[in-house]
Amino acid sequence: MSGKADPRAAGEGTTSRTRLDRGRGALGPALELVHTGRAPTRAVLTAELGVTRATAGAVAAELEALGLIRVDARPGAAAGSQGRPSHRLQLAEDGPVALAAQVHADGFRAALVGLGGRIVATAPGCETVDADPAKVLGSVVEAGAELLRETGRRCVGAGLAVPSAVAEPAGLALNPLHLAWPAGAPVREIFAECVRAAGITGPAFAANDVNLAALAEHRHGAGRGARDLLCVATGHRGVGGALVLDGRLHTGSSGLALEVGHLTVNPEGRPCHCGSRGCLDVEADPLAFLTTAGHDPGPEVSLLKQANDLIRHEYADPAVRAAAEALIDRLGLGLAGLVNILNPDRIILGGLHRTLLDADPERLRAVVADRSLWGQSGGVPILACSLDHNSLVGAAELAWQPVLDDPLGALTAA
Ligand SMILES: [Zn+2]
Repeated sequence: MSGKADPRAAGEGTTSRTRLDRGRGALGPALELVHTGRAPTRAVLTAELGVTRATAGAVAAELEALGLIRVDARPGAAAGSQGRPSHRLQLAEDGPVALAAQVHADGFRAALVGLGGRIVATAPGCETVDADPAKVLGSVVEAGAELLRETGRRCVGAGLAVPSAVAEPAGLALNPLHLAWPAGAPVREIFAECVRAAGITGPAFAANDVNLAALAEHRHGAGRGARDLLCVATGHRGVGGALVLDGRLHTGSSGLALEVGHLTVNPEGRPCHCGSRGCLDVEADPLAFLTTAGHDPGPEVSLLKQANDLIRHEYADPAVRAAAEALIDRLGLGLAGLVNILNPDRIILGGLHRTLLDADPERLRAVVADRSLWGQSGGVPILACSLDHNSLVGAAELAWQPVLDDPLGALTAA
């Protein structure tokens, strides 16, 4: 090896192609840095990757050639600043998208999501969710295919969020209890079949909606920078949890970890569909709030919206306030147990739990601090989820993952 010239010394003889050959392994990490907003300029990218400026330049140029990012070589310098500003890196405005789909107790939604978690287009479908998963997934994929036709965007793959634990490796929805789907429905296979039938290329994925919300929040929202991120959220019914460790979802040995909905928070409480009693799932979800507040839930609007509206607009009503405080106390008890077991460095709350946090943050933080060993003196920050449609954005993250792992391979293979 000693006879070989140091490539860095080769000067004019080193083409950008040979730099890229050395930099190909850096394409994925580079794209992930831009995707998550951590490399706004080429100088930051160079430092984060720990490569030479020339390699970082070749990597950025290749990502631009793939239509994923835009390199602005002449960003406006701040008035009076010294020296040449670094090239600015931005995600391509018209780049490829992932098809994201979500099914929940009150309907479904399809969306196209670009890099950076940007929702490009979305189409809600609020209908009674059919008991046959193939019909629902066919409808939501068709809505997504229509968005692709309208926008003319290239699609890298598809991801689906469902309100059920999803067993791995087969992708079975084990407990879609708030949908009329049969337990154990092979949702990933059905979804993939619908995606193929709609003529959409790329791989198809499916996972639990709260897991996906946590992944999206970790990359683009309130979970950014957390190392052990705990997310607890209600969907339209029930309560889910997720844990992101060092940037990866902790899903357990078969995809079923963090089933926090069945922590007992009220031993004398409501019977739960799991066979126990007083679980978080039935004591701290939108239906529990509405019934505790003495509010008869009407069928016309989703339970989540009814509960959120009541807290946001009628908190002065003593019955509403008392119900909110009862739910905050139950939620706090559940979170305290999770803090002791998981020792997270941040907790984020979504759905109704986010609204409860906003209504009385001090009360919730006090319950968690009082009831947990590691949460004492409010040591664990508790924040609200910050992304709109975070489960959809997370579903798109699944479809983007092969591109983030190997941009060149994923986008030139098809
Ligand atoms: Zn239960």
